[in-house]
Amino acid sequence: MPTHFVKQFTDAALDLVYPPSCGLCHGSLDHHDSSDHRLLCDECFQKLDLTEDRGCPSCGAKLGPFAPQTPKCVHCRNDRFAFREVVSLGNYQVELKTVCLQCKEVHAHHLMQQFCDFLFRRHQDLFESWKIDCVICVPQHWRKRFWGSYNTSAELAERMGQNLNKPFLRQLLSKKQHTSDQARLLPSHRRENVKNAFGITSGRLIQGRRILLIDDVLTTGSTADACGRVLKKAGADEIFVAVLARGLG
Ligand SMILES: [Zn+2]
Ligand SMILES: [Zn+2]
Repeated sequence: MPTHFVKQFTDAALDLVYPPSCGLCHGSLDHHDSSDHRLLCDECFQKLDLTEDRGCPSCGAKLGPFAPQTPKCVHCRNDRFAFREVVSLGNYQVELKTVCLQCKEVHAHHLMQQFCDFLFRRHQDLFESWKIDCVICVPQHWRKRFWGSYNTSAELAERMGQNLNKPFLRQLLSKKQHTSDQARLLPSHRRENVKNAFGITSGRLIQGRRILLIDDVLTTGSTADACGRVLKKAGADEIFVAVLARGLG
């Protein structure tokens, strides 16, 4: 039997068991919705307002049409990051925040993949201009993995590697120290919290390479900066960052 028949049959069988519902509002999904956003209803998809405007190149914040066009924005003008540029789908608020929280759940694997694809497609020209050699994710400490915590960044990075057709070096960066949850700390304490938290397993693979670092959300940038510093120290050429959302403050 041709594979597409098998897939149609499997999809139809799955729909009987799990009637398709919107990944955000859980309302029922119309089968005729565009395949571009097949996991969300039209209304939720419109609310996300995923534009191609890339916002601030340095930190990925979306700034609105009247913001001054400067290399650094009001949110990052005092920061010195080890990464060169950031891209995000939008600011971490309302619907996009719900999406990011949902993507942390194991069962939301398809939603996470779809948002990774949105990020890639909205900014494909930018990703191509970066001339990425390999993809790396912000790692988890083994203690978190041991307790079965799902690492959204690793799953996003794997998908992004497929989109870019570049290798995802899953094990390259490691988290040596267990740290306090960044979200619970004051912004001024976050840099100190992650300063020596990361290490690399092999520098050989990243010598002179242009690296795409993936996380789900970038807030103060301290975590991505700490990862970037380790990668650069080991010989990486440039670090670019892609996140689903940019948390402001
Ligand atoms: Zn919906
Ligand atoms: Zn900025």
